[in-house]
Amino acid sequence: MNQRSYLDYNATAPLRPEVREAICGALDLYGNPSSVHEEGRAARAAIEAARISVAELLGAAPEDVIFTSGGTEANALALAARGGQAWHCYLSAVEHPSVLTGGRFYRETTTLIPVTKEGVVDLAVLARELEKHHVGGWRPFVSLMVANNETGTIQPVAEAAAIVHGAGGLLHSDAVQAPGRLPLDMAELGVDMLSLSAHKMGGPKGAGALVLKAGVSVEPLLKGGGQERRRRAGTENVAGIVGFGIAAELAAADLAKADAIGALRDVLEEGALAIAPDAVIVSGSVDRLPNTSCIAVPGAKAETLVIGLDLAGVSVSAGSACSSGKVEASHVLSAMGLPPELAQGAIRVSLGIGTSSHDIERFLGAFGELIKRLKQSPRAAA
Ligand code: PLP
Repeated sequence: MNQRSYLDYNATAPLRPEVREAICGALDLYGNPSSVHEEGRAARAAIEAARISVAELLGAAPEDVIFTSGGTEANALALAARGGQAWHCYLSAVEHPSVLTGGRFYRETTTLIPVTKEGVVDLAVLARELEKHHVGGWRPFVSLMVANNETGTIQPVAEAAAIVHGAGGLLHSDAVQAPGRLPLDMAELGVDMLSLSAHKMGGPKGAGALVLKAGVSVEPLLKGGGQERRRRAGTENVAGIVGFGIAAELAAADLAKADAIGALRDVLEEGALAIAPDAVIVSGSVDRLPNTSCIAVPGAKAETLVIGLDLAGVSVSAGSACSSGKVEASHVLSAMGLPPELAQGAIRVSLGIGTSSHDIERFLGAFGELIKRLKQSPRAAA
């Protein structure tokens, strides 16, 4: 049995052994993939094989995959300037910070779309907003994530796509948390662009992709060489991309295990509620990623729980962020209208392919101790 229980897969997933092996092999592919000689061609072939694997994960065409340095860059590339006409950007209020910056859109041309108290984007508001600006002559650019990293809430991306396309707009979706957890098909989702990150699916950090629907173009953020069909300059991260390709293949196969992971998550939540009956499972009543649980404990401080669990050998994240010594609720929980007293006691537990029932037991044992301490001495535990 492992000495520790890693339950923070949404932050990053452990490197898969198959990925490690492929990366180690690829480190010897020293040729520049743009070189025409044999060494260059070997590196190029490895990249193109990975491109096919990533495309297959999404039912996309390999030539529509643009490799980037990760999810953040893929989001920034999606939100890069679009020439030719006036655009207005619409973002759901629970997007990842790399999307919420608005990329190259100005604040005046960016509108936040609210979410329900369960964290689902309000499509009626989106439709109303798009109507307004469509009349005003803007072209809408909308970004709506497939699933939220803090709560696991699944967004109605296909429904949003119908609204966005009806208004003549483009839809980007940050799918960084979805591979291996949800079936992903670009055509079924109806998106024009989709972001991925290798390290969330057992691949290496520093590799990701923006994947386009056929015919959709982007304005490069990095200009210079002609790599990635002139859409992202810079000599490719060959080993990282090779690892990403293997991780994408494994993620497609992992889908078969998503229900079993969901069952472990349900055991964890039932156990947590038995220990702390006043705790709230955030977004518990809507469709969520099977691996994610956001548990808000009234009267607790997330940091205290995270540290206490860490000392007991269990790794989870806080659903709130500490800035300048002041604990602030996450923008996601705030956008959902979760009361600050509850949001400050929210932890995110995220399971993955390596999670076993021992990990759930260890979590519940440690969680039980912490809640007992909290009840005995509310001020000390909080
Ligand atoms: N989008 C979401 C939903 C994420 O959870 C993350 C990672 O935390 C990112 C984007 C950024 O990805 P990367 O770490 O590869 O830059």
